[in-house]
Parts: sequence; C-alpha cells; structure tokens
Amino acid sequence: MKITNKIVDEKAKELGFNLVGFAEASTLDSETQYLEHWLSKGFQSNMSYMERNLDKRKNVKEILPSAKSVISLGLNYYVEGKHSNDSAKGKVSRYAWGKDYHYVIWEKLDQLISELKSIDETFEAKSYVDTGPVMDKAWAVRSGLGWQGKHSNIINPQIGSWFFIATIITNYKFQINNIITDHCGKCTACIDACPTNAIVEPYVVDANRCISYLTIENKGDIPNEFTGKFEGWVFGCDICQEVCPWNTKFSTETKLIEFIEGENREIELQSVSDLTNSQFKKKYVSSPIYRAKAKGLKRNAEFLLEDNL
Ligand code: SF4
Ligand code: SF4
Repeated sequence: MKITNKIVDEKAKELGFNLVGFAEASTLDSETQYLEHWLSKGFQSNMSYMERNLDKRKNVKEILPSAKSVISLGLNYYVEGKHSNDSAKGKVSRYAWGKDYHYVIWEKLDQLISELKSIDETFEAKSYVDTGPVMDKAWAVRSGLGWQGKHSNIINPQIGSWFFIATIITNYKFQINNIITDHCGKCTACIDACPTNAIVEPYVVDANRCISYLTIENKGDIPNEFTGKFEGWVFGCDICQEVCPWNTKFSTETKLIEFIEGENREIELQSVSDLTNSQFKKKYVSSPIYRAKAKGLKRNAEFLLEDNL
C-alpha cells in the first residue's frame, strides 16, 4: 500500500502533533546564503556547530541520498500561566517548564516512522528534533507550517509560535504544501520589546545579545553591558514571543501532559547557588534546563542576584 499525505497527517495528529506539512527535498539555496551571511557577521556567537556541515544543511540528499520530500511537524507546547515577577525567582522559558521535548518528540517520531514503514517497507526516513545539520525553520517555512517572524521563530496563523519543530527527510514523494506568506506586516512589537536589542534588524537575531543564548548555550560570562536588562530571566527568554499578537490572539493550550505538568516555571535564585552538581543532575536531567549545566544555571542566577542588590 502507498503512503499518502493524508495517512501521514492523520497518524501524526493521532500521536499529538498539531501541524504537518510537506516540501520537496530541493536545495535550500537562498536560506543557505542567508545563513552564511548571518555567520559572517558572527551572530552565532560561540555556537560553532552552526558553521559545520553547510553542505548537509543546504542539501538533505547529503544526509539521505534517496530524499524526495521533507515532512515538517509542529508540536504545540503552550501552557497557560504567567511568571510571578518575584525578583527572588528567575523566570524559565515556557518551552522548558516540563519534560525535555527531545524525549517526547523522539518517541512520537519513532512511532510515526515505524507505523509508516509497516504500511510500506520501502519508506525510508531520517528524523531530527533541533539537533543535526538540518535547517528545521527553513523546512517549516517550505512545508507551509508558517512564516518566519521578525523575531525569527516560525508563526502559524492558527496556533502562533509556541510549538516545537521536528523534521523528517524521506525517500517518498509527497504532494507539497503551499507556503504561508509573511503576515508580520508593519508590526515591530518583538523588536521594540526585546530588552537587549538582540533583534538587530527585522528577522535577524544576534545571539551575542539574546538572553536565550546568553543563559543557555553561552559557556562564558554574561557581559556587564546586560546588567539590569535581563528582566528576571534565568533560563531562556520569551519576551519576543509573549508580545507577538499572533500568540496573544491564537495560542491555545497543549494537550500534552508532559508539558502541562511542568514544574519548572520559575527557579528560586538563591537555591541554585547552593546546588551541587549531583543535585542539579537529579533535579534537571529530564528537563531542557539540563542543557545549561549546573555551572551555567549558577552563573545566570548569580547575574540576576547581583541585579537585585
Ligand atoms: S528571546 Fe529575548 S533577548 Fe532574545 S530576541 Fe527574543 S526578546 Fe530578545
Ligand atoms: S511581534 Fe509582530 S513583528 Fe514580531 S514576529 Fe510577531 S507579528 Fe511579527
């Protein structure tokens, strides 16, 4: 039996994915040019992995030679609720309130791919979640999941931007989706709200200035120029997404218990300073916060505590 778009869409949605789109596995020429320009400005900061494997990023056939289509999937993680604005506590980015999304999505992808293979054993697939040399946002745009907003996240007109993206490269030829055109219009809410001026021009984020990068991927100190500008964020930052009208109007709560039951909305700053490495591991090993390591989280907490003095 042949696998159709409808079959993939239905099976993915049964597994909890909210968005499913299909693109032709052609080369990402303009997107790679843009990436090279962004890298040439040093906007990747110390994320040197982004400079590697440009050939694979540009051409998915370098990953899967038989590739004919790319499937992009979106998984809504939005959970209602606000931070307390208690300065003794640090805010955690919404995507990290619950279980590490990699585990949640890997399991769903494995199941989806094995169900598709059981329909047609010739179905080949390589899947990625936020790792590997795949331009997931570019594929999400090409697959019709949404447009890339001026804050650089993908916005879907039905659910906004609070969703994770997974990518499947496959040897199957699917019907492709139409691209959703840019609906940012004259809005500049994200650019205006960013406290560190990290959105240096529309659609261009300089990681060196972005709180999300500075509190997660960054391995060094947080530069003094950002003192007083973090607005209480201890892990990640959601400001540009929180102010986006597509989120304030259209986000709806996820149905996934792994995210709804998340306990890490805020972190008591003083308690972080006292955490040993093994306590950190025990507490955060299943959370995206683990990415910052104990050293990074302590650095962030201390940076905010100094602000509070
Ligand atoms: S995540 Fe925060 S710091 Fe980064 S661009 Fe958005 S508002 Fe600015
Ligand atoms: S806040 Fe406005 S400009 Fe920024 S991504 Fe949303 S719609 Fe686009």
